[in-house]
Amino acid sequence: MSTVLRADGVWKAFGDKEVLRGIDLTLDRHEVVALIGASGSGKSTLLRCLNLLEPIDDGQIFLGEEDISDPRIDANRVRARFGAVFQSYNLFPHLSVLDNVTLSSRIVHRMPRHAAEERAMALLERIGLADKAKDHPDRLSGGQQQRAAIVRAIATDPEVLLLDEITSALDPELVGEVLELVRQLAQDGATILMATHEMAFARDVAHRVVFLDAGTIIEQGPPSQLFGAAREARTRAFLARFT
Ligand code: ADP
Ligand code: MG
Repeated sequence: MSTVLRADGVWKAFGDKEVLRGIDLTLDRHEVVALIGASGSGKSTLLRCLNLLEPIDDGQIFLGEEDISDPRIDANRVRARFGAVFQSYNLFPHLSVLDNVTLSSRIVHRMPRHAAEERAMALLERIGLADKAKDHPDRLSGGQQQRAAIVRAIATDPEVLLLDEITSALDPELVGEVLELVRQLAQDGATILMATHEMAFARDVAHRVVFLDAGTIIEQGPPSQLFGAAREARTRAFLARFT
C-alpha cells in the first residue's frame, strides 16, 4: 500500500487555543478514512491544514513524497491536487452548475473548455444532474448541490478527496443521495478523508475510523474495532451519544 498523505506531529493554535496537538495521520491510496469527534475537536481545522488552507505551527505534511508544509511550496499548486467539499456554500452562486464543475479544470489545470465540459457532462450524467447543467445552483435542492460540489471536486482527478461534514447542513431526506455518491466513489477506488457524524455510514464505508478529541487522535482502527470494541473510554463515551 502506498501512502498518499501523511501528517507528522502537526500542531495548530488559534491565538492561545491549541486546536491540533501533535497529529500523526496517514492515508493510503484507495483508502477511505472517517474522522469522527465532537464539535470543536479539530476535524475541520485538520482538513484545512492538510490542504494548506491554514498554516500549521509545527510538524510536517507530505503529499506523496513531497513535503507540502515547506514554506517555500506553491500552495495553489498543492491545493489543486486535492478535492475538497465542505458543509455548505460549495458552489459559486453566479455560475451555472456546468461552469462550477469545469472551472478548476479549465483555469487551474488548463484543460480546453470542450474537453472539460465533456468530462463534466459525463460526470453530471452519471449522477443524474445533466439536465441541471445550465442552471444556477439555487435551482437545485441541497442534496443536488452537494452532489454537484462532489462532482466538481473530482472533476480534476484529485489525489485525495477531503470531505468535511458534507451532509450536516442537509434536510434528512437529502442525506442519502449524497452519501450514496460518496459510497460509489469509494467503490471506484477514490482516496477519501471525511469528517462525519454519519456513524452508520462510517461503519459501512470507511476502511478506518479515527477518533479525534480536543486536537488529539485518541484511537483509530477498522470500524469493527472503533464501533464494536473501542479501547479508550473517551471513544466509548463519544460513541454512546449516537446509540
Ligand atoms: P470541528 O470541525 O471538529 O467541529 P474545528 O476544527 O472547526 O472543530 O474547531 C476546533 C476549535 O478551533 C474550536 O474551538 C474552534 O472554535 C476553533 N477554531 C476553528 N477555526 C478557528 C479560527 N479561524 N479562528 C479561531 N478559532 C478557530
Ligand atoms: Mg467541523
